[in-house]
Amino acid sequence: MGMKPPEGMKLWNNGKRIDGRSADELRPIKIHAGVLKRADGSCYLEWGGNKVLAGVYGPREVHPRHDMNPTQAIVRCRYNMAAFSVGDRKRPGPDRRSQEISKVTSEALRPVILTHLFPRTAIDVFVEIIEAEAGSRCAGLTAASVALADAGIPMKGMVAACAAGKIDGHVVLDLAREEDNYGETDLPIATIPRTGEIVLLQMDGDFTDEELSQAIDMAIQACARIHEIQKQALRDRYKDAAVTDRPPAPPDMEPPTASDEGADVLEKPAGGSEEGW
Ligand code: UDP
Repeated sequence: MGMKPPEGMKLWNNGKRIDGRSADELRPIKIHAGVLKRADGSCYLEWGGNKVLAGVYGPREVHPRHDMNPTQAIVRCRYNMAAFSVGDRKRPGPDRRSQEISKVTSEALRPVILTHLFPRTAIDVFVEIIEAEAGSRCAGLTAASVALADAGIPMKGMVAACAAGKIDGHVVLDLAREEDNYGETDLPIATIPRTGEIVLLQMDGDFTDEELSQAIDMAIQACARIHEIQKQALRDRYKDAAVTDRPPAPPDMEPPTASDEGADVLEKPAGGSEEGW
């Protein structure tokens, strides 16, 4: 944030941004639930140049035992950037930034999970950033809540996240890498679209009062759009599961035809991608 752009780089050009988007346009998002076999719930998400894998394990036994809470589950999140996830090699292991993001991710997810249903257990959420290109905390949170839903963890809603910001004096949605580096302001927000609550709000840079309300409104509306993509990923996941988990037909039975009961689950999910993911 706030770095001087290289000579000749314009972040805002005739109403368009450096990657050709308009002010309130999101980068393309793809979400796929249920990608890890050993996790209780998982999600793979691509958002612009971000590639994120989230895995949920639990509710399970707490180690170390002294962390156990007799009245509710503890929720632990670890955000980690792979060493190869950015242009310059990132030193592997936790650093101050990843500890901060792990903390805010846990704090954003805790209010949605019905932790009182699972006393004396832990729900562990791992967010692995395979490739990062600005907005990775929002991408990680969005993926983590799909993974929690995929694990069947009872929640009062899913969390969706998106940043707004300011570049060349213009309020914009979902900052790209150059906008994050050379722009004036970055404002990541996470909401529970079902209830309208805000569970994360951070800000780097400055806004006027008016710009701040505009940016918050923009990000909240974007979270609602992202929530639809999350829900579609879960629908696709269970359509796929219905096909995969169907017990094999006994040898003397004909395979089901399109007119048989339940044939709808054999159809390609509406909006499903051709790329087989
Ligand atoms: N980044 C990087 N090396 C690092 C940390 C971050 O290259 O050690 C890049 C990465 O592309 C990241 C972006 O800087 O997405 C913005 O980082 P920020 O801390 O603002 O978090 P994010 O926007 O990813 O949530």
